[in-house]
Amino acid sequence: MIPGHFRYVFFDADDTLWRNEEFFREAESRFARLLSPFAGREQVVDVVTRNQEKNIPVFGYGSKTFMIGMLDTAAEICGDRFDTGIYLETKRIITELAYHEFELVDGVEDVLKALSGKYRLAIATKGDLIEQLTKFRESGLDGYFHHIEVLPAKSEDDYRRMARKLDILPEEILMVGNAVKSDIAPVVAVGGTAIHVPYTVTWHHEMMEMPESDRIYEIKSIKNLPELLL
Ligand SMILES: [Mg+2]
Repeated sequence: MIPGHFRYVFFDADDTLWRNEEFFREAESRFARLLSPFAGREQVVDVVTRNQEKNIPVFGYGSKTFMIGMLDTAAEICGDRFDTGIYLETKRIITELAYHEFELVDGVEDVLKALSGKYRLAIATKGDLIEQLTKFRESGLDGYFHHIEVLPAKSEDDYRRMARKLDILPEEILMVGNAVKSDIAPVVAVGGTAIHVPYTVTWHHEMMEMPESDRIYEIKSIKNLPELLL
């Protein structure tokens, strides 16, 4: 049982409530195959990664930024040979990514049902507002949640602002998520408590070493959450 009194439990969305990252990796593989006449897979992934990092501060998170990064990459790698065929196929890869089949992480609904009797449940996600709200609608989970917050970047300041908005102290944030950089480190830095539930694939952008804190808990699966919280 976690010490402290928490009214809310905040959940990250992508790769915590529903599957996400492997669809991005799949799209990246398709894109590398598209550019294979021009460059090897490793080079394509390196350039797309660099362009993503460059574009995130300007355009934010989400698949639209991913598309811009892929198009920048195609233009850079193909040079004069970049054509409408490459443009349209890149757009198709991203469109299919944005509309991939929606899949909840195994066990999520039972856990939310169990916790909702004791806590107010909220989502703290980041990314494109429309994209995240569409996924939330598709998830069929809205009946369990009291609040959804789509933060610009999940920085320490973003978490402080979220707490203020919900009239709680930052120390009262209890966050469940898969990404150390977004869901764990900034939450404990503002005084909150975090539960790390690792996902099978981690986006390079979210890679970070786990900070030292006695307010970080680690569980193997979201199914273990009631053991900590009920
Ligand atoms: Mg996540």
